[in-house]
Amino acid sequence: MCGYSSVGRASASQAEGRGFESRWPLQSPHKEGIFVIWEGIYTKPIKDGIWIKLANTNVGVAKIGDITYIIDTGSSIKFAKELLSEMDNGKKAVLNTHSHADHIQGNYLFEKNGAKIYASELEVPFIRNPLLETLYLYGANPPKALRLSFYKAKPSYAVPFDKLDVRSEIDLIPLPGHSLGMTAIKINGVIFCGDAYFGSNVLEKYSYPYLIDVKKFLDSLDTLERLNAELYIPSHGKPTSDPHPDIERTRTAVQNFVNAVLESLKEPGYIETLCAKVSEKMSVSLNAGTFYLFRSFVSSVLEFLEKTGKVRNSDIPGTWETV
Ligand SMILES: [Zn+2]
Repeated sequence: MCGYSSVGRASASQAEGRGFESRWPLQSPHKEGIFVIWEGIYTKPIKDGIWIKLANTNVGVAKIGDITYIIDTGSSIKFAKELLSEMDNGKKAVLNTHSHADHIQGNYLFEKNGAKIYASELEVPFIRNPLLETLYLYGANPPKALRLSFYKAKPSYAVPFDKLDVRSEIDLIPLPGHSLGMTAIKINGVIFCGDAYFGSNVLEKYSYPYLIDVKKFLDSLDTLERLNAELYIPSHGKPTSDPHPDIERTRTAVQNFVNAVLESLKEPGYIETLCAKVSEKMSVSLNAGTFYLFRSFVSSVLEFLEKTGKVRNSDIPGTWETV
């Protein structure tokens, strides 16, 4: 997985947090609070009821009343099995920040064990039918390169967030752009940000911040900066009380790619040719499958540039040119 190069659709192997004290809090049934699972190593609490642990996709666990809420279910079935095996038999519910495969791999497992799955209305169809994700990436029934679990999780029967009945303790903050209905989840001063922004270490390692709507993604970064929380947990990156430097880096990374697409369009061209030029210019390494992720990203940059009057479809169908 580490050979992939899109932030937010890739699985970064992160080693931070290893120096912390190990502890598995869910075995303490009387304790209520929030726990963050961080790559098998449990850290000491940052504040009352909050623990942090790294994972390829960070996963949060919050106990509210007698229900344990799992915020995303990880990027591998192995991880989800481990997580489930360490939890008590009490009631569980899954809250998905969005439907990308690296956030919902364990959904079906939790569902099989009685958990209800919740997500924003726009993400629900993709969780119920993960084929839709690869279908939009490819534009038709997906080829072999997009039939790996990296792109497609097992289906689970998600229902919209409005069916949740503990809304007073769970703040749902729409942050669209990375996906149609990306939603941050705020519980007790902690915001699980999903892929609304990325940690600097992840941005450095993986070349571009995957998104499907540049304008909405940038607006969501502004929204995120206006929020007040004690702790911000990006799904890919380190939890922090000050996300502003990483949010700014994420914004700059988007802008760099917007500029690169514009510069690469000095000669009109087909989108695939443009992808080849931009990936070379920005040192993005692609394989048969990640090419489609990158094409989706470049397509959204083109739509953004079109909206701002800088590019347009040229006379030859399928090609783009600067205005
Ligand atoms: Zn994502």
